[in-house]
Amino acid sequence: MLVPKQIRRSESGDLAVEWNDGITCIISLKALRDNCPCAGCQGETVLFKAYKPQPVPDMPGKYELMGVQQVGSYALQVTWGDGHATGLYTWERLRSLCG
Ligand SMILES: [Zn+2]
Repeated sequence: MLVPKQIRRSESGDLAVEWNDGITCIISLKALRDNCPCAGCQGETVLFKAYKPQPVPDMPGKYELMGVQQVGSYALQVTWGDGHATGLYTWERLRSLCG
């Protein structure tokens, strides 16, 4: 199973993830935020009916990374400059964002 060995900020301020297969990748904060997996950002399917989130104007700090915290052994919780922190990025999703 692919798991990050280390997660840190890159020199450019993006997220640098070192994986246990030896790959280190940089994930831009914009890609990270635009792929926020929470229901508010991605919508959710309730009783086979898909609810799309309303487009909201970008808040100041939307793409500003305030902090990251590991959740259990499977995901990363990211806190953004606009206060958004409900997205849990599983390792699989994180890896899929590797450019
Ligand atoms: Zn979200």
